[in-house]
Amino acid sequence: MQGIYIHIPFCHRKCGYCDFNSYARMDALVEPFLEALHCEIAQSPYSGERFDTIFFGGGTPTYLSGDALAGILEHLTRQFKIASDAEITCEANPGSVTREQLQLMHRAGFNRLSIGVQSFDPDELQRMERIHSPDDVTQSVAWARSAGFTNLNLDLIFALPQQTLERWEANLQQAIALKPEHLSLYALMLEPNTRFYHLYRKGKLTLPDDEIQVAMFYSAQRLTAKAGYIQYEISNYAQQGYECQHNLIYWRNEPYLGFGPSAVSYKDGKRWTNIKHPREYIRRIAAGEPLELEWERLTGWDSVAETLMLGLRILNGVDLATLEARFGLPVREHYADTIDALVRQGWIELKDSSIRLTQEGLLWHSEVASAFFEE
Ligand code: SF4
Repeated sequence: MQGIYIHIPFCHRKCGYCDFNSYARMDALVEPFLEALHCEIAQSPYSGERFDTIFFGGGTPTYLSGDALAGILEHLTRQFKIASDAEITCEANPGSVTREQLQLMHRAGFNRLSIGVQSFDPDELQRMERIHSPDDVTQSVAWARSAGFTNLNLDLIFALPQQTLERWEANLQQAIALKPEHLSLYALMLEPNTRFYHLYRKGKLTLPDDEIQVAMFYSAQRLTAKAGYIQYEISNYAQQGYECQHNLIYWRNEPYLGFGPSAVSYKDGKRWTNIKHPREYIRRIAAGEPLELEWERLTGWDSVAETLMLGLRILNGVDLATLEARFGLPVREHYADTIDALVRQGWIELKDSSIRLTQEGLLWHSEVASAFFEE
């Protein structure tokens, strides 16, 4: 499988917790950005190759008009061989998306919508500096369904400032009541250079303690299971057959191309990242200069460790025999002591030739992953 990622760097307002490559008040750059993006796609050396998924993320892709989004998708289908059953996702902001935009996008070929809900509590949304209300979410879901979308993801964040376990459960219940096919449930991460981070450092932001955060994670598992969702990745839950194919490409360490500022590509063992700022991205394209900010070639044991780190996020885990065949290296022999120690710790389990995180290990993924990099 191979995927394509398109990064749209615009937002209506910068949220207090966000460290994504996204910018508010850059309307003047939208047109030049679109020109540059089309130019980058047209110049791809991988023209004509087959791809199985496309994902428009950001930023806020729906900041662009339906026509602009459809135009990019149409260009991708001309430039590459997009599988007839490809999963084609667009992230949508419930505060700005319109019914007409969704209708146009569905007609253009988008078949999956990922809606940034984050919370159903007006106070929480305000603290996060989101531009939408809980009613906007309900409205967006209704518009998406009437436009023909049969594959919807709702994104929620837990462990928000001042959030209680009960409040989190109420948020999740409201999300489940909308019957999305997929739920992404991430804990808030305090990233440097965000307003939340600075407030926290000054003692002006109260977050739920670790014990409550773990309880929130377990309540997410319990409530989603009760509603018929399958947890297939640490933070992702889907109804049978609706796992996000695009993200599975990342977690399986399979190839993908990224277009747009800060987009990452991974192909033929090389990983590269585009220049970050939209203005510089536009300038470089116009000047015919390379877009790469940095690149690295991943070979041998580095690739194996990365594949283990990413693959262990999936609840089915990683088949080590398959990994040995893929990289031509004696993975089981090399990591025998590490695996043994992690099994004794209770964080992973080994069955036949596969390893996967245990229920406790789901909380310790970073520690498990770093054990494979230390070898
Ligand atoms: S809408 Fe999303 S990408 Fe934009 S600032 Fe908020 S969290 Fe960041």
